[in-house]
Amino acid sequence: MKVWDLHCDTLSELRYAENDGCPLSFQKNGLQIDLEKLKKGDYLLQCFACYVNLGRDRQNPLKACMEMIDIFYRLLEEYPQDLVQIKTPADIKALPADGRIGAMLTIEEGGVCLDDDRILRDLYRLGVRMMTLTWNFENGLASPNSVPGDAATVWPCEAVIDKGLTKRGREFVEMMEDIHMILDVSHLSDKGFWDVAECTRRPFAASHSDARSVCGHVRNLTDEMIRIMGEKGGLIGLNYCASFLDPCMDRNRVKSRVSDMARHALHLMNIGGEDILGLGSDFDGIEGDLEIKNAADLPLLAEGLVQGGLTPRQVEKIFYKNAMRFFEENL
Ligand SMILES: [Zn+2]
Repeated sequence: MKVWDLHCDTLSELRYAENDGCPLSFQKNGLQIDLEKLKKGDYLLQCFACYVNLGRDRQNPLKACMEMIDIFYRLLEEYPQDLVQIKTPADIKALPADGRIGAMLTIEEGGVCLDDDRILRDLYRLGVRMMTLTWNFENGLASPNSVPGDAATVWPCEAVIDKGLTKRGREFVEMMEDIHMILDVSHLSDKGFWDVAECTRRPFAASHSDARSVCGHVRNLTDEMIRIMGEKGGLIGLNYCASFLDPCMDRNRVKSRVSDMARHALHLMNIGGEDILGLGSDFDGIEGDLEIKNAADLPLLAEGLVQGGLTPRQVEKIFYKNAMRFFEENL
């Protein structure tokens, strides 16, 4: 089964390793994503996020982002037989016959734009096609729903309902829609989500979030959010993170199980419609007890979702068809 994955943090892991003086090979490494694992998993496309942690890179978030874009381009140059950059609907149409794995550049932390629309346009020119307004820190554009470190200890966490998009954030939403950079609401506060839902004209995505009524984590989407995203033709990427999947009250013992992924998937499609769901692994951003350990395990996920009550046709939509249609229509 082909795979289209909406979110991974592999570029940031490659950057950290490189900056520590021990660069990793992309052919084969100890991360959850490398070329061998993507091939084993039968990937059609991977979205590669430039994930910037403002706690670590607040001094110069744009520099951190540019270093990851450089790594992305070096991967394309080093593996021209294996990877092809995807930027347009025509690129997507040509992808299945191409045989190579599609690579799409995305950003996780809108603060890298330094609130400057010239930088936003430059990042688009470099190939960035989807961006979250925030990660876990407040920035000039918006407020997030959680802060680092709270996921395991604070349960259930409180959603942020009083701080959403800033004035500049609203302007950014409009500019992103104008240039067809997909707006990604994962990590955004509840208020921010509803601000986006109110001011967007085009469908938007939540690249790596699950269902809050199945597991009450604030990184997940409420039924009302899922419903409005479905009505607007949006796309949600199923996150494999144990903290977002497992409702177990002992937060130190949560597991990432395929059976829980199936429960989230069924709920998300039940509320948002069958066209709403894709995969948003969060690989190389998640750790702990994982049934699906890395990109090579995706065939196990396909089998497990069928065992969990999904039809093969639904699994096919989740694995690549919904995301492929969404990006073909909205890029
Ligand atoms: Zn994330």
